[in-house]
Amino acid sequence: GPTLEETTAESVSHQPSNAPLKDDSTFEGLGLTEKLSQHLTSSMKYVAPTKVQRAVISKMIDSQQDYFVKAQTGSGKTLAFVLPIIHRLMTEPDLITRLSGLFAVILTPTRELAVQIHAVLESILRCHHHIVPGVVVGGEKKKSEKARIRKGVNILVATPGRLADHLENTTSLDVSQVRWLVLDEGDRLVELGFQETITKITDHLSQHSRINSNKWIELPPRRVNILCSATMPDDVKQFGSTILEKPEMISIDRGS
Ligand code: ADP
Ligand code: MG
Repeated sequence: GPTLEETTAESVSHQPSNAPLKDDSTFEGLGLTEKLSQHLTSSMKYVAPTKVQRAVISKMIDSQQDYFVKAQTGSGKTLAFVLPIIHRLMTEPDLITRLSGLFAVILTPTRELAVQIHAVLESILRCHHHIVPGVVVGGEKKKSEKARIRKGVNILVATPGRLADHLENTTSLDVSQVRWLVLDEGDRLVELGFQETITKITDHLSQHSRINSNKWIELPPRRVNILCSATMPDDVKQFGSTILEKPEMISIDRGS
């Protein structure tokens, strides 16, 4: 199986002696652009990154590695995985617009969570209107979801069942450029029995992937997979290991 390298918050913040020292107490220090950092602090009133954000953001900006991210509920995992993705899309040399393609898929166990993450994306992207988020969840509005997908979205938040449905039935949903797959609340996804549906989704993503590394020079040349969870029991780790490739474990202790 894939090797699992344990990393604690402490070892994450330790810098190799030849690397430039990063000031992890600010968003900008973690490598996010001034524009994005200012929006987070001035408009959204996030004073400083949380522990999990300090551990994950600069790593995800710099690498194309798969990660398990284990940190307690309320520790700020959403911004930890969302900000690096937005940063990479914002700093791409060719301006990314809704017509550029779908680059990230975020799977969550419930529609409430999906709607919540989509709202976070919307408020972050108020500082950069060209990047468009979308959400697809179980319920009665498949037609409007289809219309929105047809117009083009760059980051899609979804519940597994509804995404699988769209992959089968919404012909305009093009997943050939997806560079990030986030499984949020991995423990609940497994508890609710979504493994089979998620495997169907990842098989579909792999089969339809047409990543052209010449065109999108700075985006990851393969699909990066992230599994976030408050708890990491064996069945979650095992399921994650069927999707993540050579993942690294980032495990955050309680506290700020
Ligand atoms: P988790 O997914 O780990 O349970 P969330 O990402 O949902 O946590 O964040 C929990 C709460 O913390 C949210 O209300 C969010 O707005 C807030 N939050 C996230 N990051 C920060 C930050 N850097 N500073 C202050 N509050 C934050
Ligand atoms: Mg969360």
